[in-house]
Order: sequence, then structure tokens, then C-alpha cells
Amino acid sequence: MHDFVVVGAGPAGSRFARQAAQRGQDVVVFEQGEVGEPLACSGHVSTALWGFTPDGARERLLQNEVYGARFHLGGPDSPAYRFYKDDVVSNVIDRVGLDRTLADAARAAGADVRENHTVVGVREGRNGVTVEVRGPDGVATHRGRMVAGCDGPASRVREELGLPEPGELLHGVLGFAEGPDAADFVDVHLTVPRFFAWRIPRGDAGVEYGLADSHRPARSGDRPALVPAGRRGRPDQALHRRGNPLRHDRRRPRCPRDRPD
Ligand SMILES: Cc1cc2nc3c(=O)[nH]c(=O)nc-3n(C[C@H](O)[C@H](O)[C@H](O)COP(=O)(O)OP(=O)(O)OC[C@H]3O[C@@H](n4cnc5c(N)ncnc54)[C@H](O)[C@@H]3O)c2cc1C
Repeated sequence: MHDFVVVGAGPAGSRFARQAAQRGQDVVVFEQGEVGEPLACSGHVSTALWGFTPDGARERLLQNEVYGARFHLGGPDSPAYRFYKDDVVSNVIDRVGLDRTLADAARAAGADVRENHTVVGVREGRNGVTVEVRGPDGVATHRGRMVAGCDGPASRVREELGLPEPGELLHGVLGFAEGPDAADFVDVHLTVPRFFAWRIPRGDAGVEYGLADSHRPARSGDRPALVPAGRRGRPDQALHRRGNPLRHDRRRPRCPRDRPD
């Protein structure tokens, strides 16, 4: 029996697995696909991230440093309210690389990280949990003292164990443009009804455009960009579109009160 069965090798799962393995626990991690794929994150992160990564990660993963944001309240061409700091406030990173780095660190600590293994069932018992996993060789059963459900917004573990659902489901879409852009600010558009849209310069990796909004039935007048990527969207609306449901608090960035540029 394992000490921990971890479901999902995103940042949460790999970080947990690494920490537990470093403390001598027997840890197995199941990841349904390849670690880091498909990309479902903008990788615009707090600088505090580097306290959680192995040595050398910052040099390999950092794409750009951000000092501030321009908030737009009236659509793509509307004037910007600028918020800047003298110091770096956030970093733009290679998010696929981050996931791989953290999974490698978990492996190095002794965790058994298995890709292409999808957890399809979780049962709680008196002395632990039984987890059913579908892998390349079929479905197998694994036992653990505890299960760590690190399987993201559409969590199978949460569903299997009847844990409460988050209050709101958002869908996000990302589009990418080639051509380096090392600007030191991000753009945030607050005209999206329930969340926001953004533009993130990623240094030599180009520019990312993103938008997230509530997951609800389309109504006439909805913007087509709110449609989940790869399902009902028109292919001409973005260069590349990748999407993933995410759940999120209905918090918006605070709106500035002074006049825009
Ligand atoms: C479009 C978009 C943009 C975002 N931008 C940012 C940003 O700029 N900055 C930021 O901080 N956050 C951002 N987020 C949020 C961020 O992606 C999440 O907070 C973060 O990924 C959560 O990490 P996690 O490890 O909990 O889950 P995830 O990263 O979702 O990892 C879960 C893992 O579990 C695996 N999995 C799922 N089900 C199973 C199963 N049944 N069996 C095995 N494996 C399974 C998945 O394949 C995945 O690898 C964004 C999210 C979206 C959707």
C-alpha cells in the first residue's frame, strides 16, 4: 500500500508529491496525459514561485518580468489606466516547462510519477483508499493510505468522493502571436461580463491573448470569443486556441478611480 496516491501532476500534485517523498513517504502520482500538456494556463505568476522550484528553474523558465498593468474599461481601443511599481511585481514563465520541472523534482525525490494514467474511480475504505487507474496496459487497482486530489478544476476525485463543487465554472481561451515582445506591463480588459481578458508579452516567446468568462448557456448577443475552445468556436477567431475549464472566485481586479491616459 502506498502512503499517498496523488491524482494529477500539475503544480499542486507534483509539489505535494515532492514534499511527501522528501519526508520518506511512499508516493505514486497518476497523470492522465503528458505532464504540462495541453497548456491551460497563462503562466503569469507571483515572483514567490521561485521559492517552490528547484535550483536553476528561474533561469530556464523565466520569459518576462512585469512591473505593472494597463486596465481598460471600454473595449480593445479604450484608454488605459496604468498601474506601475518600481520593482518587478510578477513574472511570465514557460508554464509547460514549470510543470515538467516540478514533476522531475518529485521524481528526483523518490515519487513514482506515471504519465498516461487516468484515475477513473476512487473509493474510501476503513483503512485507506482504493483508486482505479486506466493506463496503457488496461485498468489496475492501487491502494493508498490517503488520496490527494490534485486533478484540477474538473476533478474526478472530487466527483467520486462527493466533495462539494466550487460555486462557479469559468472557461478560458488562449491565443498566441509570434514575434518577440518584452514590454514590462500586461493589459487587462474588464469588459468581459464575469471575468476579464488579457494580453501578456512573453519576451522572445511572443504575445499571449486570453479571455475567461462564466460557463453558462450562450444567449443571443454573447461574444463568440466566450465559446469554449475546440468545441463551438469558429477557427478564424484566434491564431491558436486552447482552453480548459477553470473554477474561480468571482473576483475582479479593483477598478482605478483616476482618469486614464
Ligand atoms: C486559460 C487559463 C489561464 C490561466 N492563467 C493563469 C495565470 O496566468 N497565472 C496563474 O497563477 N494561474 C492561471 N490559471 C490558473 C492555473 O492554471 C491553475 O490555478 C493551476 O493550473 C492549478 O494547478 P493544479 O496543479 O491545482 O491543477 P492543474 O494545473 O489543472 O493540474 C491538474 C492535473 O491533473 C490531471 N488530471 C485531471 N484529471 C485526472 C485524472 N482523472 N487522472 C489523472 N490525472 C488527471 C490533469 O491532466 C492536470 O495535469 C489559468 C487557468 C486557465 C484555464
